[in-house]
Amino acid sequence: MSPSPSPSDRRTDPHLGTIVHVVGTRQARPNLPSTGCPFCVGGREAPEPYDVRWFANRWPAMPGERCEVVLYTPEHDATFASLGVPGARKVIDLWSQRTAALGARDDVDFVLVFENRGPEVGATIAHPHGQIYAYDHVPDRPRRLLEGKWEPDSTPGDRLVLRRDGWQVCVPYAATFPIALSVAPLEQVPDVVSLDGTARDALAGVLVDVLDRLDRLYDRPLPYMMWLNQRPTDGGEWPQAWFNIELVSPWRSAGVPRFIAAAEVACNEYFNPFIPEVLAEQLRALG
Ligand SMILES: [Zn+2]
Repeated sequence: MSPSPSPSDRRTDPHLGTIVHVVGTRQARPNLPSTGCPFCVGGREAPEPYDVRWFANRWPAMPGERCEVVLYTPEHDATFASLGVPGARKVIDLWSQRTAALGARDDVDFVLVFENRGPEVGATIAHPHGQIYAYDHVPDRPRRLLEGKWEPDSTPGDRLVLRRDGWQVCVPYAATFPIALSVAPLEQVPDVVSLDGTARDALAGVLVDVLDRLDRLYDRPLPYMMWLNQRPTDGGEWPQAWFNIELVSPWRSAGVPRFIAAAEVACNEYFNPFIPEVLAEQLRALG
């Protein structure tokens, strides 16, 4: 077979059903920009002053204007926690705006808002930013969460980190990563678009607090992955959809990653060295 000329060649494994986006064009993507930060004001992707900003990803993982970048702040050395509540609220409002705009498209069934922070999890640019992928189908994992009628843990017990202003943060019962947190509203809301101003301010406060604690857990910036689980935008009812945010890190101690290795990959079962109840206790103590 000759290489596909399209930017993305979506293949489905005939035995497992796993979807693989073969994206040869991303091999040409620079690991680091050659000159300056493209996200600082005056940089390639941010020519004008801004508070928060989105733009189409120059190196999309999927064709069809489905991949966007979200800049959290013009300050290169900021963190999500250092944005404070007003800054985090602007990010949440932009997440909502882009979710609504992309979700309104007929060819978008699911909007994934996410962030990779730190070179350890593949972020190539340090400037605080996240991304958005707009899928033309509902991917397997979010579909399984919906079919499993995901809702906030009603009995987190020792895994509770905080419950405040209508939001709960806890360590999942069967966390697959050494560091794993679930952030959810106690009242059912299907997506970030549906959060009112009060709920958005409260979420901003909770995220700033939790991400600050995570950076203090090992006294250094924690590499993390964060994503929003939202109602699909395929026109279905999805009455069970319950908005939530997942936050995970591979670090099992300072600078030491837990690798996803042969047994995990072979069997899709995880070995987690960090006891969820202990993580929750440590994060409560940092409050
Ligand atoms: Zn920058």
